Formats: sequence, C-alpha cells, structure tokens
Amino acid sequence: GAAQTAPARLKVFTPSLDREAVARITLEREMRGALERNEFRAYFQPKINLATGRIEACEALARWIRPDRTIISPGRFIPVAEESGLIGALSDAIMREACWKAASWARAGRPTNVAVNVSALQFRGDKFADQVLRIVQHAGLAPSQLELEITESVVMEDPDRALHVIRPLKEAGVRLAIDDFGCGHSSLAALSKLPFDVIKIDQQFIRALERGDPQSAAIVEMILALARTLNMEVVAEGVERREDVDFVAARGCHWVQGFLFGAAVSAPEFGEMLRRQAGEEIEAEDAA
Ligand code: C2E
Ligand code: MG
Ligand code: MG
Ligand code: MG
Repeated sequence: GAAQTAPARLKVFTPSLDREAVARITLEREMRGALERNEFRAYFQPKINLATGRIEACEALARWIRPDRTIISPGRFIPVAEESGLIGALSDAIMREACWKAASWARAGRPTNVAVNVSALQFRGDKFADQVLRIVQHAGLAPSQLELEITESVVMEDPDRALHVIRPLKEAGVRLAIDDFGCGHSSLAALSKLPFDVIKIDQQFIRALERGDPQSAAIVEMILALARTLNMEVVAEGVERREDVDFVAARGCHWVQGFLFGAAVSAPEFGEMLRRQAGEEIEAEDAA
C-alpha cells in the first residue's frame, strides 16, 4: 500500500545526506524562533572550593528550554549555531544572563564567580573582548567575578592570536580558564607565556580514575604539578565519586565540579542553593 511506496520514493529523492541537511535547516529555523522567544537559557553548575568546602563559583551551561518544557543540550545545538552564524546571538544571551544573575547574587550578599564557555567562532571575532567587557559593565558585575572558559584546542590553534584576544580581558580583571585540558596538543612554551589563571582537567581523565586506569591517574597528577609550577589554579570536572575528590585534593587541586555536587540547574534553583548554604552558615555561627 501507500505506506510501503512512500518510503521508497523518499529514498530516491532524498538520499541520507539531504535528509541530514533538511534536519539541520529545520533545526536552524526553529533556533531562530527560539532565540527571539528567549528559550536559550543559562543553567548553573556549582563549583566547590576545596579550601572551604563551599560553593563559591559556578559554570553557566546553555540549555534550550522548549515551550513543551523539554530541555535540549548544547551538544545538539552549539554545532548548528556555529555553522549557521547564530552562535553570536546565542552566546550573547548566555553571557548576559550569566553576568546579570551573578551580579544579583553578589548584591544579595552571596558573591559567586561565574564561568562562561567561549566558542571557537566568538574567539576568532575582532570585537570579542569589547563585547564581553560591555556586558560585564552593563550588568554591574565585578570583572574578577567572571571567568571565561576557552578550550585547549582553540587556544593552541593559534597561541599568538589567543594572547591578543585575552590580554585586554586579563587587564580588566576577568579570569581566564583553559577548558578540556589534556585533550588537545598544548605547547608548554605557549602555555607558560599565556596569562591563564585556571586549568580545567578534562572529565575523561577523572572518569578514568574510576576504572583504576594508572595512565589517567598519572596524567591528572602531571597536570596538577604543571599548574602548581605555572602558578595556576586547577578545576577537576566530571567528579562523580568521593574518592576522586580525595585523589585530586591530596594533589593540590583547588576546585571540583561534577554530579557528586550537582548538575546544572536553573538560575532560581541555583540561587536557592546559595541561600540555603548561607542559611546553614548563620546557623553554624549561632551555634558557636
Ligand atoms: P564543558 O564546558 O566541558 O562543560 C562540561 C559538561 O560536562 C557539561 O555538559 C556538564 O553538564 C557536564 N558534566 C558536569 N559534571 C559532570 C559529571 O559529573 N558527569 C558527567 N557525565 N557530565 C558532567 P553540557 O552542559 O552538556 O555541555 C557540553 C559542552 O557544550 C560544554 O562542555 C561546552 O563545551 C559546550 N557549551 C555549553 N554551554 C555553552 C555555551 O553557553 N557556549 C558555548 N560556546 N559552549 C557551551
Ligand atoms: Mg566549560
Ligand atoms: Mg570542560
Ligand atoms: Mg567538554
């Protein structure tokens, strides 16, 4: 019947490559509407300062909240946004929301650093530093409360360019982090010359600790030793087990982030976590 012939015709007229292209164009069109409706939101994942055991920072992670409440992850829409040129508008929306929320937490007496991910395309643009500083200023956020996460591969693709882009940000007091460290090909000479404040160990190495993989344990140790020499802080991300916290803490790690402490949540939920943490402190002071 018709149900059998229709797919055969589709096969003739839309080979799989076209089908992919159609899906992409459909997604791109949906994304344009979603941007206008403000459906791309920043979610916030806590980062714990190991020196205090408190949430003192967070990472803003993009989420697409559809009208039917389904949530789409960045792995799905960031590549499409990069190819279609929508990444600029999307990044601006996330950066703006992250800075405004961080400023409001600070005004409420709960200052919390916020890290925002930077895409390869943004980083190649000429106006990037100016745009970031304008948003920070407009939000009324102290620049030192903003951290930019740039992946190792983007930094090392052109370290001279990276230095040129980050210098004005660094001078303004913005913190700079290398994301997914250990996956790309870092030039140690370049690394020592670039004014990064933070290294984020890629989660694959933390995950491998669970499997008892001795090579990954050695890599984590090496990154921590390297960071100490270069006077940089380290974040271990993808931490899901207490043992992994102990492992990195014993080797001088500063920050941990992962499902053990919580996945990314909406701004109101994250604000509530900060309120609860502050409440517990007051209780502890009253008891003392
Ligand atoms: P990333 O910057 O390395 O972010 C860490 C990813 O690991 C996040 O996935 C986070 O939810 C996930 N994660 C954190 N802790 C754990 C854990 O304990 N276990 C496991 N299995 N996963 C954990 P997410 O939110 O899906 O983001 C994926 C990537 O998409 C990010 O990797 C980042 O490269 C990119 N991305 C996210 N938001 C933005 C954005 O606003 N702009 C840009 N340019 N890229 C973004
Ligand atoms: Mg990141
Ligand atoms: Mg990462
Ligand atoms: Mg990643």
